Amino acid sequence: AKYVYDFTEGNRNLKDLLGGKGANLAEMTNLGLPVPPGFTITTEACRHYLSAGSVPDGLDREVAGHLAALESRMGRKLGQADDPLLVSVRSGAKFSMPGMMETVLNIGLNDESVHGLAKQAGGNDRFAWDSYRRLIQMFGKTVLGIDGDLFEDALDALKGRRPDTGLDAGELQRLVETYKGIVREQTGREFPTDPREQMRLAVMAVFDSWNAPRAILYRRQERIPADLGTAVNIMAMVFGNYGDDSGTGVAFTRDPGSGRQGIYGDYLQNAQGEDVVAGIRNTIPLEDLERIDPPSYDQLVSIMETLENHYRDLCDIEFTIERGTLWMLQTRVGKRTAAAAFRIATQLVDQGLITMDEAVTRVTGDQLAQLMFPRFDHGAEKKKIARGMNASPGAAVGKVVFSSERAVELAGRGEDVILVRRETNPDDLAGMIAARGILTSRGGKTSHAAVVARGMGKTCVCGAEELEVLTAERRFSAPGGVVVSEGDVISIDGTTGEVFLGEVPVVDSAVVEYFEGAEPDDELVKAVDRVMRHADGARRLGVRANADTPEDAARARRFGAQGIGLCRTEHMFLGERRRLVEELVLATTDEERQVALDALEPLQKADFVGIFQAMNGHPVTIRLIDPPLHEFLPDLVDLSVKAATHEATGKDRRLLAAVKRLHEQNPMLGLRGVRLGLVIPGLFAMQVRAIAQAAAEVPGARPEIMIPLVAAVQELESVREEAVQILAEEGVAALIGTMIEVPRAALTAAQIAEAAEFFSFGTNDLTQMVWGFSRDDVESAFFSRYLDLGIFGVSPFETLDREGVGRLIEIAVAEGRSARPDLHLGICGEHGGDPDSVHFCHEAGLDYVSCSPFRIPVARLEAGRAAL
Ligand code: ADP
Ligand code: MG
Ligand code: MG
Repeated sequence: AKYVYDFTEGNRNLKDLLGGKGANLAEMTNLGLPVPPGFTITTEACRHYLSAGSVPDGLDREVAGHLAALESRMGRKLGQADDPLLVSVRSGAKFSMPGMMETVLNIGLNDESVHGLAKQAGGNDRFAWDSYRRLIQMFGKTVLGIDGDLFEDALDALKGRRPDTGLDAGELQRLVETYKGIVREQTGREFPTDPREQMRLAVMAVFDSWNAPRAILYRRQERIPADLGTAVNIMAMVFGNYGDDSGTGVAFTRDPGSGRQGIYGDYLQNAQGEDVVAGIRNTIPLEDLERIDPPSYDQLVSIMETLENHYRDLCDIEFTIERGTLWMLQTRVGKRTAAAAFRIATQLVDQGLITMDEAVTRVTGDQLAQLMFPRFDHGAEKKKIARGMNASPGAAVGKVVFSSERAVELAGRGEDVILVRRETNPDDLAGMIAARGILTSRGGKTSHAAVVARGMGKTCVCGAEELEVLTAERRFSAPGGVVVSEGDVISIDGTTGEVFLGEVPVVDSAVVEYFEGAEPDDELVKAVDRVMRHADGARRLGVRANADTPEDAARARRFGAQGIGLCRTEHMFLGERRRLVEELVLATTDEERQVALDALEPLQKADFVGIFQAMNGHPVTIRLIDPPLHEFLPDLVDLSVKAATHEATGKDRRLLAAVKRLHEQNPMLGLRGVRLGLVIPGLFAMQVRAIAQAAAEVPGARPEIMIPLVAAVQELESVREEAVQILAEEGVAALIGTMIEVPRAALTAAQIAEAAEFFSFGTNDLTQMVWGFSRDDVESAFFSRYLDLGIFGVSPFETLDREGVGRLIEIAVAEGRSARPDLHLGICGEHGGDPDSVHFCHEAGLDYVSCSPFRIPVARLEAGRAAL
């Protein structure tokens, strides 16, 4: 393999191999921009080094060859005593990880070449010693692993109140001696003075910095795969630290906050590299360079224009001016806020630089989601007390409550509450709905609290393990002796996972108001509007909602849902209706059972009427009851306690017996879904009849009946037969289909399609069963370890696992369609609103995705992007 590329050999499309920095340095070189010469060691070499523990064969020889070429081009040798070439050794991965990895400047200096450098600079001793002390400082910290504060403290002690530029040559020379002493003390060895040795060690340190803790953390946060590795760029040094005629700066071609075009940046005279961002001295606004060095300024402005037209996007750059000569040291398509992303995309269309198609691909569903959440005011003062997982974004403020009942009670009085629990369970639903936000001390991003909160678009921080929640005492404690009692106000940030004491002011999202129907008035909302219209025009995938109530259904419609892809019926059995479910379970004769079913039927029917009305002629896929029966029955422990007391009634005792009988070790693999329908006579029939009668009442209603947890066509056939008969009796037409959420169903899709008019992939259960891990328990137990080990880059419950779960879906799609060409195909797991999973669904040829109402705009946008 070729492990080293000269800047003249690469281009911007080689980011996988050369990293973003290397690819773009090559691109600028080939555009004829002033880039100091250099070369890039590939990410492949890094991957080899990280896995094998040594550099690949041949790398040293290639590097030596490229270094020799660089030396002959520059007319001086690396670290040459009388006239040294110096280089920087810079990290640069495929995805920008700003400041997360290492870079070492001024490689090649030692006790001899420092004099040569001074001579080269026309007797500028100060500059030469400043460069040398910088080398030891950076090298000491990043390559030798010495605590950087030791160097900082020595510098501070020497300069006192003066800025670093106030040190003269003699003082800097003394500082070099001090620094060398620190190296000796900390490592037991002398600072390495051989230039090639310096370079070799620096290259390996850059490789190693791929696995620095902060780099790992950043990758996790940004979902950058852990196995890419970094490239290493070796580049001739240019010097912004000669004096006031030199300097270094960073700039954007437009404002990354607003998107406005112009000159945005910071400049620092007589400085090198990281000084600008490190904040060692106050920078000046880039405009002031126009006064200091007009020719360099004009050249910079013109280069920025060239870059923007070339990349057709906002670019950010690093540059250095060495005694009146401008050098470009880095560029990349710049990061921007979510709001700027939409603004810039449409501005570039208006400038004729990109098409609307491209504009849609320039923004992401995640950015849109960010624009939809209310936010805490950034400027506000806050007291942070803990941090958990950012389970469901948004900003929520309210009084702390510790039970669902209390949440409902206070919310009923118009108070904002935050429901705080160790973890939530289905019985907390009412309280979760009533609360502004949910905070738990246990559980991961797919814990009950997190999943439900995301579904509702409700702010949630989960797994804040520093908190000790004492539910019975109605208080929780946080580190540092903070105690928060019921009624105290806290603020939680579901976007960052932070928990604050007291009220942090929030600001509303104009983008949500727009989706709710407000006219687009400000510039950002107009940009969102244009992008969304174009995405809708481009997408092939339909977008439906997961919604179980008329209110959710109505919001889903406003947000653009073309139907309901998953209407769960289980909540229709909770609350008051529990009593009827209990009777159903206790029934010993057909008559008793029928009494209970007859009581449930009109209630169910009324639920469906509301939803059909809200959906106004759009299809509604209703899933017959799915969860294990015991979820609708009283708790075994509570019942046992009660049965042991005198108050227990005969019914209590019979219930206890029933609950004991139905108790399962593994309820998620137990009596649920279609199995329940087959075991409790009349249950599914009652639901189908309620659906049919509701549909008959609402003109244009389009019910689709979905049978959950089918694994064998025989299960489906027997339910289907009964359903078809009921529909005929009621004179209502409805599609009958099934969820595909058990691996066996996917593998026998051709058979199942004979009895199903549609498939909906239930990817939550399918993922759970394909991987064989329980989604209720797994996240806190070992997911973080799995993420660390790179077994997966992101939880398969968050983003669909293409290789495993995706493969099963592909099999089911192909087999299902071959058996029934007009088979309608959708997905209704949490993945339906996840950007990457939406792209998978497009590629797999599904007809629609279904997701929670709040994710619908995201799914619409991503479906559009997938099609472009
Ligand atoms: P990061 O990725 O953290 O920005 P860089 O590799 O870009 O790290 O380098 C850190 C700083 O050093 C930047 O300001 C960069 O412009 C500067 N720098 C890097 N190489 C050189 C060089 N050859 N000459 C002068 N300055 C350099
Ligand atoms: Mg940089
Ligand atoms: Mg399921």
